[in-house]
Amino acid sequence: MWAVTGVVAVAAVALTVGVLHGRQSVAGQVVIPWWGLSIAYLLSGILVAHITVRNQAYTFTLSEVPMVLGLVAASPTALITGGFIGTALSLVLYRRQQPVKVIFNLATFLVEASVAIVVMQALLGGHTVGSSFGWLATLAGTVTSSALAQVVVLVIVVASAGALPIRQVARTLAFMLPASVLNTILGLSGLHVAGQDPQLAALLLIPCVVLAAAYRSYLSERQRHGQVRQLFEASGALHRSRGVDASIATMLSRARDMFNAEVAELILLPAVSPGEARRFTMGPGDGPVIATTEDAGDRGELALRQQAVVLGPGGPPGVLAARGWRDGIAVSVSADGGVNGALLIGNRRDTVSSFGRADLDLLEAFAGPASVSLANGRLEAKLEHQAFHDSLTGLANRALLAQRIQTALLHGPRDDFAVLLLDVDDFKTVNDTLGHPAGDQLLIEIAQRLSSCLEPADTAARLGGDEFAVMLRSTARVDDAVAVADRILAALRRPFNLAAWDVTVRGSIGVVIDNPSVASVDDLLSSADIAMYRAKAQGKDQCVVFEPLMHVEVLARHQLRADLERAVSGRELRVHYQPIVSLTTGEVIGAEALVRWAHPVRGMVGPDEFIPIAEESGLIVPLGRFVLDEACRQLSAWQRTLPSLHLSVNVSARQLQEPELVNDVAGIFARHGVNPNRLTLEVTEHVMVNDARAVDALRDLRSRGTKIAVDDFGTGYSSLSCLRDLPIDSLKIAKPFVDRLARSDDDRALATSVVGLAHSLRLDTVAEGIERPDQAEVLRAAGCRCGQGFLFSRALPAAEFLARFGSQKSTAPFLSLAG
Ligand code: C2E
Ligand code: CA
Ligand code: CA
Repeated sequence: MWAVTGVVAVAAVALTVGVLHGRQSVAGQVVIPWWGLSIAYLLSGILVAHITVRNQAYTFTLSEVPMVLGLVAASPTALITGGFIGTALSLVLYRRQQPVKVIFNLATFLVEASVAIVVMQALLGGHTVGSSFGWLATLAGTVTSSALAQVVVLVIVVASAGALPIRQVARTLAFMLPASVLNTILGLSGLHVAGQDPQLAALLLIPCVVLAAAYRSYLSERQRHGQVRQLFEASGALHRSRGVDASIATMLSRARDMFNAEVAELILLPAVSPGEARRFTMGPGDGPVIATTEDAGDRGELALRQQAVVLGPGGPPGVLAARGWRDGIAVSVSADGGVNGALLIGNRRDTVSSFGRADLDLLEAFAGPASVSLANGRLEAKLEHQAFHDSLTGLANRALLAQRIQTALLHGPRDDFAVLLLDVDDFKTVNDTLGHPAGDQLLIEIAQRLSSCLEPADTAARLGGDEFAVMLRSTARVDDAVAVADRILAALRRPFNLAAWDVTVRGSIGVVIDNPSVASVDDLLSSADIAMYRAKAQGKDQCVVFEPLMHVEVLARHQLRADLERAVSGRELRVHYQPIVSLTTGEVIGAEALVRWAHPVRGMVGPDEFIPIAEESGLIVPLGRFVLDEACRQLSAWQRTLPSLHLSVNVSARQLQEPELVNDVAGIFARHGVNPNRLTLEVTEHVMVNDARAVDALRDLRSRGTKIAVDDFGTGYSSLSCLRDLPIDSLKIAKPFVDRLARSDDDRALATSVVGLAHSLRLDTVAEGIERPDQAEVLRAAGCRCGQGFLFSRALPAAEFLARFGSQKSTAPFLSLAG
């Protein structure tokens, strides 16, 4: 722009100097001084009308009027000096144009004035300016010079747009030339009248002003019409764009076109006040939208303005300077109802005009459809987000994880990754005992801890229930993946505070490293699953890396599940009995019924191996019923041989959810003619806490005479005081607690107080897993009434149990009973 302007300016000055050299004044009897022309030019510069058609701005003035005055009633020097000063003042003071535009417009003035002088004086020949021939010569001078001025403008258009908009030029000239003729006639008549009667000439100012006003309104009407059409088209385009990115691109490109600007920018502010703002810029030049993230900082100020503003001295400070823009306008846009963004448009493309009032109106009108489109785009993005994310935790869902793994698999060895599969072992218990809201809260907090262990490139997903997965992009090395898994396990170990309880959970993680043998997403996830199950089986709270051999094991587990189904319905389950003895007398007062599986191939399988599978598959319900039935049958068979024996049977949480449980149990007692008070049902303490249905079932059972024991007391998260209101008769103190006993005075004191508290709640106490006499002694000294453990006997088949403990044989020899 500067280059073209410079060339035009130099040419204009040269032309002017040439014209002024040796030109004589042709003025008649009225002579206007140079400053008079300055005033006239200043006025015509104020009474202007602009129009922007497509990318081009046109300015209409009454400049022919002062031009005529100068040609006819002043010297060429006075016309050029006076006109130059008047024009300069109007451009700088009134229209506040930038230097390049001021210079360009002044150069145009010089060309116009010089050409008018040359044409007019050449045609005039010997005639006087007052003659009708003189008038025609003046008219020719002004019209030629205005046409030439348009040519100069065209040079600029072609230079900046690189093309000649022929139809527009024709349209402009069709409007400009008649206007120019009209203005000239107006000026000439004014002069003529002034020659006759100067006061009457003053009256002529009125038609001049009216004419200027008419131009203005005509042009602004035309312009508004064009803008409405552009706005209409732009909203249509915005409406059609799908998704946030598309609507932002449309918004920016339309804004650039509409305001004939080089750059358009959208700033979206974060929902929370200190956060990162996102900035989308289009231009200068062609190219895609560039998105950047930055500190929100002072951008907030822009977005808070409801009305559009012109950027610059009057507007928000520093916005132009920060972007290196010459000029600009801004308006706030909203994406979700609230104000949270700003649309900025900068660097007007044409040289003659800058942003003004009309642009602000148009921009405000544009902000409406822009906001709607943005909001729609966001809504779509939200829906898409929903389709690929878990609504509870906000993590990716299975579909998104599968998609990402699939993409990485397609990329082959160039795109290495690892997958971790995490199962939260105690989630079901928390959900059953503390309720669903606490369960949900636990999942949310697990998701947060999980995410905090990862890099941004990694994907954390919730696959459903309590199963989570991670796709590690940051590393594909075994050591690193295991390190991440260990970090996750460590994060889970910290207690979770849920519904006023401190709950601890343990995770089991399976790790799979991407390798050429992985064929599909399912393949990969099932390998991770296998490794995860191995971690679980090895005692939880650990991670296991998948190895191909593990497949064999999985098959075995599947087999086991199928076998178990057969076992439960067939005759493979056995019940063994482990004695419960009095710690004071050594007398066997009862036994716990423990299930065994006589597997046709694998031999005797322990419950730790298949109870979890039975619980998972629901087989625990028929299994539990079988054990209870078998125990009752045994009890009634021992009616004579072991008349005072008491039996304990384990009941799992799942069974207590069965509505038919109470009736089932009553039916079993009735069938075998067993008195319910000779039976204790053992339930883990997890079940007791906050699971209203289970507690109701237990209360019901207890009201019919059955005793209830809390199994594994001391390993969970209940306290003695919360047991006060529960329907229970005894506590079974868990083995880990017993293991610690003999170690220190502290542990001993603890044992004493636990037993004491239990007694104060009128609860009987049975210590489990006693393996050494000293443990038994400490427990006895603490006041614990009964004990159970390998010290006395393992669980035995019914016949063996009878052989050893029938007819009340005492276990006293195992106890080093004091007294
Ligand atoms: P539990 O109810 O805590 O049963 C006690 C377990 O500790 C039994 O293991 C028993 O053999 C073992 N044990 C007893 N004394 C000692 C000892 O001094 N040292 C050691 N190391 N272990 C000892 P078992 O029979 O393998 O049963 C394991 C678990 O399986 C039981 O733990 C119980 O939770 C479950 N279970 C067994 N039978 C049934 C059943 O019929 N129904 C249900 N729902 N669960 C059952
Ligand atoms: Ca038990
Ligand atoms: Ca137990």
